[in-house]
Amino acid sequence: MNYIYKGFLIALVFCSLSISSVVAQGNNCYWQQEVDYKMEVQMDVHKHQFKGKQELKYTNNSPDTLKKVFYHLYFNAFQPGSEMDVRSRTIEDPDRRVGDRISKLSPDEIGYIQPTLLTQNGARVPYTIKGTVMEVRLNSPILPGEITVFNMEWDAQVPLQIRRSGRDNKEGVAFTMTQWYPKLAEYDFEGWHADPYIGREFYGVWGNYDVTITIDEAYTIGGTGYLQNPAAVGHGYTVPGQKSMPPVKGKYTWHFLAPDVHDFAWAADPNYIHDTYPGPNGVTLHFFYKDNPEIAENWKKLQPKTAALMEFFNEHVGPYPYEQYSVIQGGDGGMEYAMCTMITGERKFGSLVGVTAHELAHSWFQFVLATNESKHPWIDEGFTTYISDEAMNYVMDENKSNPHSGSYRSYLFMATSGKEEPMTTHADRYASNRAYGVNAYSKGSVFLTQLGYIIGPEDLGKTIKRFYSDFKFTHPTPNDFIRTAEKVSGFELDWYLTDWAKTTNTVDYGIKNVESQEGKVEVTLERIGPMPMPIDLYVSYEDGTQELFYIPLRMMWGQKPNPFTNLERTVLEDWAWAYPTYTFEINNGKKIKNLVIDASRRMADINPENNIWEVE
Ligand SMILES: [Zn+2]
Repeated sequence: MNYIYKGFLIALVFCSLSISSVVAQGNNCYWQQEVDYKMEVQMDVHKHQFKGKQELKYTNNSPDTLKKVFYHLYFNAFQPGSEMDVRSRTIEDPDRRVGDRISKLSPDEIGYIQPTLLTQNGARVPYTIKGTVMEVRLNSPILPGEITVFNMEWDAQVPLQIRRSGRDNKEGVAFTMTQWYPKLAEYDFEGWHADPYIGREFYGVWGNYDVTITIDEAYTIGGTGYLQNPAAVGHGYTVPGQKSMPPVKGKYTWHFLAPDVHDFAWAADPNYIHDTYPGPNGVTLHFFYKDNPEIAENWKKLQPKTAALMEFFNEHVGPYPYEQYSVIQGGDGGMEYAMCTMITGERKFGSLVGVTAHELAHSWFQFVLATNESKHPWIDEGFTTYISDEAMNYVMDENKSNPHSGSYRSYLFMATSGKEEPMTTHADRYASNRAYGVNAYSKGSVFLTQLGYIIGPEDLGKTIKRFYSDFKFTHPTPNDFIRTAEKVSGFELDWYLTDWAKTTNTVDYGIKNVESQEGKVEVTLERIGPMPMPIDLYVSYEDGTQELFYIPLRMMWGQKPNPFTNLERTVLEDWAWAYPTYTFEINNGKKIKNLVIDASRRMADINPENNIWEVE
């Protein structure tokens, strides 16, 4: 809270001092909305229903006057005929977890959030609900810099577990309470983002959450936020030997506070084991898993691995900024939330660590660097895939020479299938789940690995860390990332973001011709694909020596450092992208054995066959 507030003050001072340059350059002043939730929940675990109350303090930090606001009512997606239901039955390759299951839900299995009261600053305010989105036409517009208070009361039913949230998941977890409350939509420099929920991505307003949950005494709760009354509820939150208070009418009221987050999730089950384990920098790791002897050993072994993973991310991205993180058995696979994750728990050990690595990495790439997932799913999923593949390679001693080769394989398959769509496609709007998945996870991950080829692995590492430290607790954009890479490396890199993320242009370089005459060798390379790249060309000579030739890409205006300390490098004239071919001479008198474009295979060349030339 303090951190963000100070950030705003600095931003305000900056804006007022340089107003003319701001006007000249367009929107140079970053701002973000703020919301403070106070919620009370009364669970009826038998009917799977609850009553909720919410006081929402909304600060309009935008330069605009807001005449309406939007809320997400995600549970409404789990009703026959909803957009999510129809979308999942009409897309060419349905998500197997969803399929036609929503269409078959009975009235006591559907989900809903039904507001019963809504006021703005104490006066009733009209609203309309369409599916998962509620539009509120304000009585009094919210002026720039103004704070308004909404109070809502609602009735809700927790759907049978279909996707992410719900009751009674396939492993018997009673309640996975995610996307469970009326959540204000985000308004940013691109306006409102009131996307209907069809099962994909999220984008939330930064703020503080104060949540109390009253539930039957048998249930253990894990989730976002710091428990304020551990001595009152027990359930593994008290120090050993300390007794919890007796319940009131068979129920406990749990009180959580979560500062500086943009979501709040929780899960509850009467048969959770709750362990804690010390993480790095004083962070407490919590583990909630079903009392099932078949999974207990894996969940114990997971605990030191989670600590090691967090340490890896701290070192390679930046310090985890909260005091707590929870790995919770729940949901339908793995899904990231603020300060916690919900994962299915009946897995082999490697898979259990793998899913934890991925979801924990989202704490950095989504829960601190809160990009708009719907617009740029490749940032949070791709960067998470990249860093968790690196972490698994290290923490699980996989020792792969390229831990990202799987991402390359699936990207290359999609890029040559004719079904690729640009990464600028809105997450909800991809023609197939597959095209979305490959772009978000694989092509997004290759974006980073390949950037390491372009600017060098050291500057890639520095870029990731600087991106985190410059943009934590905000909503960064792809442009913010590429500008960070430009500042770190000194290169111009906008072309890389444009070609890779905004088009389906592919990389294909080839060795076109090699001609020897009188001790000289003339080498001609060819750019076949539309996307340009700088070129590392490896030469092996008959005498057993090797050399690296580097051809800078002219529009980058610079040269990356030699990535090899043990290999001599010759920097050649730069190559302007418009020229389809490039010719140079090797005249050291040595006989060439073979030539290889990018032996590291970090450049995502769709046709690697023409990257190699061997003497006949
Ligand atoms: Zn993910």
